[in-house]
Amino acid sequence: MLGWFSARIFLGPAQRRLAGRGLPILAYHKIGAPPRGTTDPFLYVSSRRFDAQLAALRRCGYSPAPLTNVLSGEGRAGEGVVITFDDGCCSVLEQGLAALSRHRFTAIQFLVAGSLGRTNEWDAAKGDVPERLMDEVQVREWLAAGHEIGSHSATHRNLRHLSPAQAREEISGSKKALEDRFGREVRHFSYPYGSFNPAVRDLVVDAGYRTACTMRFGVNPPGTPPFELRRIIPLSSPETLAKVWHRLGRKLRAERGSVGA
Ligand SMILES: [Zn+2]
Repeated sequence: MLGWFSARIFLGPAQRRLAGRGLPILAYHKIGAPPRGTTDPFLYVSSRRFDAQLAALRRCGYSPAPLTNVLSGEGRAGEGVVITFDDGCCSVLEQGLAALSRHRFTAIQFLVAGSLGRTNEWDAAKGDVPERLMDEVQVREWLAAGHEIGSHSATHRNLRHLSPAQAREEISGSKKALEDRFGREVRHFSYPYGSFNPAVRDLVVDAGYRTACTMRFGVNPPGTPPFELRRIIPLSSPETLAKVWHRLGRKLRAERGSVGA
């Protein structure tokens, strides 16, 4: 069954046609079984399914692509795929690193700069089960394995609800904090909750990032605004499979008219 789900996610004809229209960016969060009581079970993908999904991507001819490919228009038909993780959960390092290595994929972790070594308190505050977040040593392990880091703000607040000064600190301050701590340029941003508006987006541009990921659904054809990148949440359960499958088909039909051949 695992293979069937993976095949339907990545190898279905409609999805392949859709991916052929632009660079797909996958948005993962947590690797492992959803814990009892979690309010967002769809954000968990088991390590077996994650492994199967990466294997399916390889079988389909996909190779890892950096986010900067979106800028150069190199996200050509069904060749490159970007693998992203939001929040910086330990579970990705502990249960996902081996699969990434096995299938020779690289990924980017969007870290919450002010929460390294802590938990996702923003989710726990809403009643979700806390998840451990990577500390500095673990982030270094992630980097040493050949993966990349980006910023997911300083404290994971909804940037649209902050004053310009607060939003600037979340966006620019987190970039500087991560760069100072890890000694490498942080070029990519992921909006907490996928939430942004033109003012927030302009702050991300001004801070010197090169791209920003949203939670808008879809792939990224050449010419996609680099600070409004669309992503696909890979599936963790059969119920959500049906929903995403339906949305993929609908999106494909919608883009047929607007994107061209
Ligand atoms: Zn997040």
